[in-house]
Amino acid sequence: MTTGIISFKLGLTSCYLIIGKEIVMIDAGLPNKLNLFRKVLSKNKIDPARIKLIVLTHSHFDHCGSAYDIREMTGAKIAIHNSERECVEHDKVLIPKGVNFKGKITQPLIFSFKIPFPKFTPDILLDNEPYSLSEYGIDGQIIHTPGHTIGSVSVILNSGEAFVGCMAHNGFPFRFKPGLPIYAQDIDVIKENWKALIDKGITFIYPGHGKPFPVAVIKNQLRYPSTN
Ligand SMILES: [Zn+2]
Ligand SMILES: [Zn+2]
Repeated sequence: MTTGIISFKLGLTSCYLIIGKEIVMIDAGLPNKLNLFRKVLSKNKIDPARIKLIVLTHSHFDHCGSAYDIREMTGAKIAIHNSERECVEHDKVLIPKGVNFKGKITQPLIFSFKIPFPKFTPDILLDNEPYSLSEYGIDGQIIHTPGHTIGSVSVILNSGEAFVGCMAHNGFPFRFKPGLPIYAQDIDVIKENWKALIDKGITFIYPGHGKPFPVAVIKNQLRYPSTN
């Protein structure tokens, strides 16, 4: 049973702790953020050993940067989709396209700018089947939601919260209000995944950048694409 959600930033990236019997972490922020992470844990009185799983929504450096260090500190396992394994074990980078005007203009700059991060071997390779979080005492699952990258995943809780990585952006430097991502390998695939998540009854979105927001925002954008 989920008893709480802690939101915090490790650099430009929004990360989350889902508290159940154990704790599952969503994304690991930019590189060299271990000290900042320690402060988050002590402020919230969390024993690092309670964190048993780190789910990486995808392999970009701003989501995986401190994963190696956080695993060393907590002993948690790292889960990522098997199609992005090479990107965290070696130097491969998946380059998405710009989706809207701002995305198209900024994409060449943003994706030429690559911060190296400590590479690691994932402990759990996800596939296209849902991965239950029940062994961590959390009523939810990890599901494959490609589109931003080929192996992007989301965590959805039975209580309606969805942790979607870069299926949504809500904050500097990407967007000033919540919405669909401004970079994606395939925005149409993202839209299909959003429809599937909405059909599952999700209510509140926890994005990879920026603050959480209600699902109605995405419903509106799917209905009226011009507001993208
Ligand atoms: Zn990304
Ligand atoms: Zn990102």
